[in-house]
Amino acid sequence: MAMADMRPPIESGCPDGFQYMHPTMRRNFGLWKYHTDPKPGVLRHVAESGEEIFTVKVGTQRILDIFSLRELTSIGDEFADGYIRFTIRSNIEYYVTDESKVDPLIEAVEKLGYVVGGTKNSVTSLSHTQGWLHCDIPGTDASGVVKSMMDELIDDFKSWNMPNRVHITTSCCQINCGGQGDIAINVQHTKPPKIDHAQVSNVCERPSVVARCPVAAIRPAMVDGKPSLEVDEKKCICCGACFPPCPPMMINDAEHSKLAVWVGGNHSNARGKPTFQKLVASAIPNNPPRWPEAAGIVKLILKCYKEDARDWERVGEWVERIGWPRFFELTGLPFTKYHIDNWRGARASLNASTHIRF
Ligand code: SF4
Ligand code: SF4
Repeated sequence: MAMADMRPPIESGCPDGFQYMHPTMRRNFGLWKYHTDPKPGVLRHVAESGEEIFTVKVGTQRILDIFSLRELTSIGDEFADGYIRFTIRSNIEYYVTDESKVDPLIEAVEKLGYVVGGTKNSVTSLSHTQGWLHCDIPGTDASGVVKSMMDELIDDFKSWNMPNRVHITTSCCQINCGGQGDIAINVQHTKPPKIDHAQVSNVCERPSVVARCPVAAIRPAMVDGKPSLEVDEKKCICCGACFPPCPPMMINDAEHSKLAVWVGGNHSNARGKPTFQKLVASAIPNNPPRWPEAAGIVKLILKCYKEDARDWERVGEWVERIGWPRFFELTGLPFTKYHIDNWRGARASLNASTHIRF
């Protein structure tokens, strides 16, 4: 084909965000002087130029239908010059340059049943991975866990009653896009995968499945005259990494796929290195539609944090100061053998460092 006839590539990346920004933000990009917090859920940013803009943060139910979106965006048209933004934690943010419109805007969103908050030292909305709605390998519906948990934490979203801000995350499988948070609720598989041998040769590329296993527990095998796979169950750490490339290696199970709570994660920032989460509660029932056991543990941790942490200590900093034994004493959570990582092969085979191995 001559070059002139070739179809041009379709640019499908992220569009330029500047075109969607409020004009006041565009004009003052990178030129902000300071910000204040007039009340929970409201930020006031002041620019070098003297211009100011108010941000009103509103918690949503995360999975939004078209009717709710229309209602929320019409409020944006009426009070916020038609500019809104959704945050990574599915809060909607309105931008208002006229201070007199802040309270009527809050009144309008609250009338529809939404809550304003999630700024400063509050529990902001939980972030979650996609769950059953969008992904092909979840062991629970992370968005459902989030919705039911936020219903219980609504007062901590609406007020500044925590020592510092709290980020909570959930993830619906054990290996992929799980979040890093002060408190994380993650899936925990407790049994090795069950293999549907009749399907393996039709569906799975066996060498890539063997290569996926972090502990080399999978071997090729012939079963009933058909190429299949077998798992050394003594080695298997029930991570679920073989399930995405080979769905016949089913690891999700109504009884044995549980939830676990991890504590103390934080991304690096200007003041500190990243910190890694530690397991504090395991084998929690994966119990829809309201996940009461997991919510109870999260509320218990938040209560102890609120009572015992110093002002502006994040959850991880609080635990670092008091020590993990004291954390378990204060929360009363049982310390079990599952909290000890005694797997000696990790150093040689898990991708725990940035070294490239061949
Ligand atoms: S956490 Fe796992 S199951 Fe959930 S969306 Fe990410 S990859 Fe998919
Ligand atoms: S669940 Fe994880 S450890 Fe077990 S066989 Fe699959 S990949 Fe290997």
